[in-house]
Amino acid sequence: MKKLYAVIGDPIAHSMSPLMHNDLFQFYGIDAHYQALQVKEQALADAVRGLKAINISGFNITIPHKVAVMPLLDEIDPLAQAIGAVNTVVNKEGNLIGYNTDGSGYVRGLQNYLADLQDKKVLIIGAGGAARAIYFTMAHEGVKHIDLANRTAEKAASLAHDCPYDVITKALTLSEAEDNLASYDLIIQTTSIGMVPKTECEPISLHNLRETAFVSDIIYNPFETLFLKNSRLKGAGTQNGLDMFVLQGALAFEKWTGIFPDTERMKKIVEKQLGGA
Ligand code: NAP
Repeated sequence: MKKLYAVIGDPIAHSMSPLMHNDLFQFYGIDAHYQALQVKEQALADAVRGLKAINISGFNITIPHKVAVMPLLDEIDPLAQAIGAVNTVVNKEGNLIGYNTDGSGYVRGLQNYLADLQDKKVLIIGAGGAARAIYFTMAHEGVKHIDLANRTAEKAASLAHDCPYDVITKALTLSEAEDNLASYDLIIQTTSIGMVPKTECEPISLHNLRETAFVSDIIYNPFETLFLKNSRLKGAGTQNGLDMFVLQGALAFEKWTGIFPDTERMKKIVEKQLGGA
């Protein structure tokens, strides 16, 4: 019988996950279908019970349900538990197991550009859900020095305080991060600044950026934020958020099927959908 997979969220109509996963099922000859399902906040518990009742093989969770879904699952992977959010569920013999592939997808994508990640001095700009997944996963993978800068500095401080892994972290204001920018090897931009429609904004000034630094922005629409463009013009290496999006999907696909898929193929599909790189 055809297997069923899904992504649940609200809004969900513009999700590119169905396109990416259905192409992979066809490419690898797997008899399965992946469906986007709009689930309102008040309907989440019923929706998860329903998915379990029909024995769905697996599903992704996106905004706004990544945290609220956790108590509705049978088991949570320790890293997802530490992050406090789940984006991927696997149905293992009737038990729904929650994982977080956002942070690991991000790190896996970054490793295509940068070697020796553990020894880099890292600055993460932002302290929201995406920053939390990336920060905890990098700390879990042994990156030794990661500072956090956020508009609301207290949120950066509380994120640093929550981290259960061994890492050296200073919580900074955005202006402190600007002043100290030259000391970082890797700068990760995780705020929504620069996204369509606010494409003319940057989270911090790049005045002190080293040209040997690497700058990664997790936004992929636009493909190159102003922050990333100005980093590139200053000579830094750069990466947009497409790798994170594709790799979180690839890791979910691997958990469901045992196959680590062709990520270049996935990237091309998303690029085409977004209107070309
Ligand atoms: P979130 O939890 O709402 O966090 C938003 C972050 O942006 C916070 O640090 C917030 O600072 C900061 N921010 C928002 N508006 C700001 C402003 N005007 N000035 C300065 N800082 C501002 O969101 P999220 O889930 O972490 O997502 C953040 C971004 O990552 C979004 O653009 C999202 O599309 C992108 N993302 C990409 C991927 C991918 O696969 N590539 C995955 C997840 C997310 P405060 O704490 O001060 O409010």
